Amino acid sequence: MIISGLQEYLGEAPPSRVLAFAMRELFPGRIAAVSSFGADSAVLLHLVAAIDRATPVLFIDTGRHFAETLDYRDRLSAYLGLTDVRTIGPTADEVARFDADTSRAVWDPDGCCAFRKTAPLQRALQDFDVWITGRKRFQALTRLELPVIEPDPPHIKVNPLVRWSAADLAAYVEEHRLPQHPLLARGFASISCAPCTSPVHPGEEARAGRWRGFDKTECGIHRPGATGK
Ligand code: SF4
Repeated sequence: MIISGLQEYLGEAPPSRVLAFAMRELFPGRIAAVSSFGADSAVLLHLVAAIDRATPVLFIDTGRHFAETLDYRDRLSAYLGLTDVRTIGPTADEVARFDADTSRAVWDPDGCCAFRKTAPLQRALQDFDVWITGRKRFQALTRLELPVIEPDPPHIKVNPLVRWSAADLAAYVEEHRLPQHPLLARGFASISCAPCTSPVHPGEEARAGRWRGFDKTECGIHRPGATGK
């Protein structure tokens, strides 16, 4: 089935159906979820775990995360019973070569994301044909057109939550009593590395606290040229 046919078939389906069809029928053994274990991650991971707790989950440890995020990764994984959470990241040699003094996020965030996030993920994705993301259309103007099934050669991305709102996510969290990232209570609506994440003010979009002061809206793992960038 071609991408456009899949999009037509699954574009209006609820997230649980999208995931079940993708994980069980379309791409069994070839699919991984990618999670930041950030503000909204519990919803996607709960949906994935309900279908198969042994699904590979890739977490990029950039080396610059909040301690709360690493703790939340461990607590949420245990809570959901996830059995194959794979922590990936830059090698020690890459850190020494590209950001020995850890200042790169300040003067070259694109370069910092490239070696700390994008390269490790691309290496890990060599074992898969398809990856699941938790992106939503409401998060940013740059995501308004995100499809459920997204070509990302040589991979395909499945975005089951694109149509959900912040209220939908909150209702799901409450219904299933999911543990929340501790920084949410301190105003962090979208959470990435500590040097590049700040609280969001009333009226701002969810990702406004990311790379504040820079003309940068995406870390690069969702590459320019693909839909929704
Ligand atoms: S989000 Fe910031 S610290 Fe993290 S990899 Fe990107 S530039 Fe570096």
